[in-house]
Amino acid sequence: MKLKVAKQVLSANDAVAAQNRARLDAAGILAVNLMASPGAGKTSLILATAERLPNAVPIGVIEGDLASRIDADLVAAHGIPVTQINTGGSCHLDAPMIQTALEQLPLEGIRLLFIENVGNLVCPAEFALGSHLSVVVASVPEGHDKPYKYPGMFARSDAVVLNKTDVLGVFDFDLAYFERGLRMVNPSAPLFVLSCRTGQGLDGWVTWLLHRLDDRAKPSIPTAS
Ligand code: MG
Ligand code: ZN
Repeated sequence: MKLKVAKQVLSANDAVAAQNRARLDAAGILAVNLMASPGAGKTSLILATAERLPNAVPIGVIEGDLASRIDADLVAAHGIPVTQINTGGSCHLDAPMIQTALEQLPLEGIRLLFIENVGNLVCPAEFALGSHLSVVVASVPEGHDKPYKYPGMFARSDAVVLNKTDVLGVFDFDLAYFERGLRMVNPSAPLFVLSCRTGQGLDGWVTWLLHRLDDRAKPSIPTAS
């Protein structure tokens, strides 16, 4: 019976996620669900990305944390519209939380929405939010074994960011081993190796995001046959 209840909770979540997606699509917004361990640099990635995006791509942010407004205050200090979700005890965001957060953002002024999930490499991947893209952020100090230990998260990602490469010389991090682990569970997601602190490698990530925005803006072309 326990399994049945869990399935019902998930399908209720999926229904709200579909409503969120419709709302985002109607507003012409591309939403990216950023998932990572605590401290991998999700907020840093959002800020470093915002600095490099053209003015024509205004961003908005939903910050998910167990407690505090620290990240939201940091994002707001950069003039970016942001709303903070405090999950209380919950270790992931769910679709109803996003539905509430969307009410609090000026959607008409946003083209790219970052949803910073709660720092956790397990269950955030299980809960659809209505976002268009799932991105996992790993970082050098966490070690090169993350794709092996958390395959579900990496398998479901549309792109993977490896942050904090400026400290590669300090840590015993085997990049080839990390990438092999990633490819075992996800052959196709692009891997962006970068440092938010130095800015190295960020251009490739930003270009990828801009292409995803372009893909969405294109009207779907009916096939000739
Ligand atoms: Mg953060
Ligand atoms: Zn959770």
